[in-house]
Amino acid sequence: MEIQYHSAADADDIAIRGGRAVRNDFLIFGSPLIGEEEVAEVVATLRSGWLSTGPRTHQLEEDFKRYVRCKHSMAVSSCTAGLHLALDVAGIVPGDLVITTPMTFAATANVIVQRGARPIFLDVDRRTMNLDPNRVLDVARKLTSGRQSASSGRLRAIIPVHMAGRPCDMNAIMEIARSHDLLVIEDAAHAIESWYRDRKIGTIGDITAFSFYVTKNVCTGEGGMVTTERDDWAEEIRVKSLHGISKDAWRRYSSAGFQPYETIYPGYKYNMMDLQAALGIHQLARVEENLGVRERHWQHYDRAFADLPEVMTPLDEANIRHARHLYTILLDLDRLSCSREEVVAALKAENVGTGIHFTALHLHRYYRETFGYRRGDLPNAEWIGDRTISLPLSAKLTDQDVEDVILAVRKVVEEYRR
Ligand SMILES: *Cc1c(COP(=O)(O)O)cnc(C)c1O
Repeated sequence: MEIQYHSAADADDIAIRGGRAVRNDFLIFGSPLIGEEEVAEVVATLRSGWLSTGPRTHQLEEDFKRYVRCKHSMAVSSCTAGLHLALDVAGIVPGDLVITTPMTFAATANVIVQRGARPIFLDVDRRTMNLDPNRVLDVARKLTSGRQSASSGRLRAIIPVHMAGRPCDMNAIMEIARSHDLLVIEDAAHAIESWYRDRKIGTIGDITAFSFYVTKNVCTGEGGMVTTERDDWAEEIRVKSLHGISKDAWRRYSSAGFQPYETIYPGYKYNMMDLQAALGIHQLARVEENLGVRERHWQHYDRAFADLPEVMTPLDEANIRHARHLYTILLDLDRLSCSREEVVAALKAENVGTGIHFTALHLHRYYRETFGYRRGDLPNAEWIGDRTISLPLSAKLTDQDVEDVILAVRKVVEEYRR
């Protein structure tokens, strides 16, 4: 039977085998699990009259600090804002070079450009999808050897991304950074629950940024957290996340009475609202429970796809704790008579929503045109980017939802099998 899936928009009526989709209703990818506690806390926050940064934000910072076991945690309006602040306090200035991965969301590299610095994308490992320390070492050696031309800028930092929740090889990355005088700023948007060996992510690099975006493992709608062990950077991030003024609004307007303040940096508007923290407090309280649910779904997927040669499942690694943010399969396109886009459209026709994490960032238009990257430059990231599909993995999913995803994937793969 020949079936053409045209586009996601008109795929609805043409599911394989007589138009009957695996599910009747559409399973949205990345839909968060919001409990009644969150609803009640948001309502209580509204009634309290304190909507912006205040007691609930401070509580979330304390709770997060305890969870991560770090010295300082600063709530911000997003992980992107956190990364931008991190690069600011780390002293990244125009002309600097920053190593990062192309297997990430746009924000990781955008903030480098926003500082006037230049991202150096290095290739990843195909199985971990994380930066390959050997390539980082090669480039760190070359760019810090003194042989570089004066115009090429100074290599200052590495931004590793713990892709899908799998921690990078932090021993190797920290070793390279320390021996070449580089800072490590971790993009832990996927990695709230991750551990690298016996260390929690958020306590290893110089600064770490976490995301509480809707689809992330802890959700405040929009929001994020920055952690560091450094007192001076913690204070600077606090001040710069709220205009760069010396007293925050809670302190300015609380019962202690109006306190005078002055501007000490041209800061940003990157503070978290108590309305967001109201969600975060209860989301964080259930973070381990939700991880347990996703671990169960993960194993269910692993078992279900073990006999499908067209589908490569995520690597199982010892000595780490994976945060199970994304369950990404890689399609063996040589065994299928279709593209990844056709598989995505076919799954949509089965009423299963999926995500793509990610198409290699160095090939996005801005990065191609501005920095001259071309297809072929970073083959592993490109290989992953052409084959990857993220399946639904929210703690909100029922066992039946997971069963439906499995049925849909098997049905589509069998249909397109060569
Ligand atoms: C989601 C995400 C971000 C941005 O997080 P926000 O909180 O939406 O700013 C950054 N990096 C990665 C890898 C992400 O997935």
